[in-house]
Amino acid sequence: MDVKQILKEQNFRFNKQFGQNFLTDRELLNDIVSDAMVQDGTVLEIGAGAGTLTRELSSRADKVIAFEIDRNLESVLKLTLADCPNVQVVIGDIMRYKMSEIEVLCGGAFKLVANIPYYLTSPLIMMFVEKSANVQSMTLTIQKEVAERLAARPATKDYGAITVAVNAVADVTLTRILNRELFYPIPNVDSAVVRIDINRNKYDIPNKALFRKTVKTAFAMRRKTLVNNIMVGFKTDRAAAESVLCSMNLPLTCRGEELSVEQFVALSNECEKRGFN
Ligand code: SAH
Repeated sequence: MDVKQILKEQNFRFNKQFGQNFLTDRELLNDIVSDAMVQDGTVLEIGAGAGTLTRELSSRADKVIAFEIDRNLESVLKLTLADCPNVQVVIGDIMRYKMSEIEVLCGGAFKLVANIPYYLTSPLIMMFVEKSANVQSMTLTIQKEVAERLAARPATKDYGAITVAVNAVADVTLTRILNRELFYPIPNVDSAVVRIDINRNKYDIPNKALFRKTVKTAFAMRRKTLVNNIMVGFKTDRAAAESVLCSMNLPLTCRGEELSVEQFVALSNECEKRGFN
């Protein structure tokens, strides 16, 4: 099956706005499905494109629910997925669906697999991290820099609020780097594949809203100390902010980016004890 030929015959025009950069190399697509550890079960794919990844997923999963925002790809997907009866294509914008609607379509535990545009990366990850009870893992082909941020270690320039937010409830593995030339058309950045394994019992975070605020606060001004950021974010005086760090045996000069995810959990719990909000 020649996908490029089908796209041509269907007069398909790439839409930059939707971040359309397709993967066609079967070996690579297979490797991504292996990275996702799909052996059976249900897969939710976001951004089916021309259905190349969808086909590989279909050959290994029991059921694939594939969202695609671009109505102009509907006729292409009808052709490329004609022999894949376990695929259900949903034409629509994933961000406009309620999590409950997505979970009804999936009908139980599922793995998310997607090659997604840059603009969608953070909102999509946070949507599933925060709202989905049934997502087991997310294997995402994303911009290399974002992948590195998700997998970053503390005290590095890549370590930030999204690193902590995701690693508080999941384990992140960067599985492969993809040269930009593997995509059609060729984008102007390289990509990487990350697998985010959801593990909601990793830490005990009783007040999730406060945890989110603590992380946001600590990284609000990266060049300022954690004490300074706490004073601004939680509207406290210096003594109150310093007392939090003292109780955690942290130096008063430390910066948010030096804290491990575990220390962020402890920091958030200390803030809660003190009634910060
Ligand atoms: N999975 C395919 C396509 C990747 S390109 C492949 O690997 O070849 C990303 C796809 O996501 C595009 O087809 C684009 O139209 C689609 N897309 C972009 N935003 C979307 C959204 N909000 N909801 C669903 N699909 C979206």
